Amino acid sequence: MTTVIKGGRIITSSQDFVGDILIDDGKIVAVGVLGGVGDGVSDVEVIDATGKLVFPGAVDPHTHMDIPHMDTVSSDDFFSGTAAAAVGGTTTIIDFPIQDKGQDPRHSLDRWFDKARGKAAVDWGFHQIITDLKDDYIPALSDMVGQGVTSFKFFMAYPGVWMSDDGAIFKALRSTSDSGALVMMHCENGLAIDVLVKQALANGEVEPIYHARTRPSTAEGEATSRAIDLAEMAGAPIYIVHLSCTEALGAVRRAQDRGLPVYAETCPQYLLLDEAHLAEPHFQGAKYVCSPPLREQSHLESLWGGLANGSLSAISTDHASFCMHGQKDRGANDFSRIPNGMPGVEWRVALIYHFGVGQGRISLNRFVDLVATSPAKLFGLYPRKGDILPGGDADIVVFDPDKEVTLGVASQLTRCDYNPYEGTTVRGWPQTVLLRGEVVARDGDFVGHQGQGSFLPSGPSSA
Ligand code: MN
Ligand code: MN
Repeated sequence: MTTVIKGGRIITSSQDFVGDILIDDGKIVAVGVLGGVGDGVSDVEVIDATGKLVFPGAVDPHTHMDIPHMDTVSSDDFFSGTAAAAVGGTTTIIDFPIQDKGQDPRHSLDRWFDKARGKAAVDWGFHQIITDLKDDYIPALSDMVGQGVTSFKFFMAYPGVWMSDDGAIFKALRSTSDSGALVMMHCENGLAIDVLVKQALANGEVEPIYHARTRPSTAEGEATSRAIDLAEMAGAPIYIVHLSCTEALGAVRRAQDRGLPVYAETCPQYLLLDEAHLAEPHFQGAKYVCSPPLREQSHLESLWGGLANGSLSAISTDHASFCMHGQKDRGANDFSRIPNGMPGVEWRVALIYHFGVGQGRISLNRFVDLVATSPAKLFGLYPRKGDILPGGDADIVVFDPDKEVTLGVASQLTRCDYNPYEGTTVRGWPQTVLLRGEVVARDGDFVGHQGQGSFLPSGPSSA
């Protein structure tokens, strides 16, 4: 199957020119001004991209499909969540198997393969969550690196559930310091937060806003600094997930200024939504409960600055969808029982294009870097993913910069009974999305199929 994408404005993290892309057998064969290539040839599909932007299929390096959390399971599974991703221009996700305490982490990896295989509609990779790093399991980490799982996430929050102590985190950092693996950290001081949560509940402060008030930005700043210090002691690189606040950004920046290999991502919700949403009446604030929490307005502009100046390396979603009815409402009388998370995978590309490029905060090249190229490099998927290069997978977004779309629950593919961006109109939306040369989304409709995605073994990080 041969496809030619003709006459589009091709944008990569470093280039910007009008040209054509020749695709054969799922791979990019040639990129440039290719003249009459494909003209008059039967069985060649020609996609006219005149007036459109053409950029690499986006890579979301942080999603949770089919995730068990607080005695429920997220409303998106690997099919619904990846169909939503495809429509929004994301052709690769990296998701997170979770180790059960007391069990070899390889068991959870097998279980997550069963969740994704035959269901995912875009390609996927895995980061392994480690909740219980017994010394016996350290060899399992190198084993998983051999299987193409080269990143490991640890939590400094959720004590008793997912939290690891500093010793376990330090051991993991030491074991990954020369294997090409990358440790990812959820940075919030979980023990201090637990004290604040218990006190708030004892005072009868049960509404969703107290989720934010009991998880102050200082708790994230402290944990971020501590994680970076542990990585420095171990001589290992580190990647900070879902960075949400000025304090944490400062810690990252200071480490980078000293030449340390410290990377961080943020998410659209931390750039676009502030803490005030959590105070919406009638429990509506529960829609916005995620951890770290949304922050006060002043943090939002610092994060945009961090994207522009390079302190932040990537934008993910932390997609974790839970419905208001039957899931979030478990916490109607106790904010600490509201499942943490919100959907996002469907809207990340359009939101960052509209509010980032459209409002002059980041360049087009930087936009592509943040949503596609840099995540692919950081997690060992480059150059197969994240760029438009001969030999790479033909994951391509033909993007209509003038198409206006109003986001809302009525039209979304995300399986969730609300949309955190309800009523927001964005200018710019994917017109055609290709996964390995096949059209999986067209004009906002999903036209791919369940199980079309493949597992992507990651190599070493090449950030
Ligand atoms: Mn997290
Ligand atoms: Mn997460």
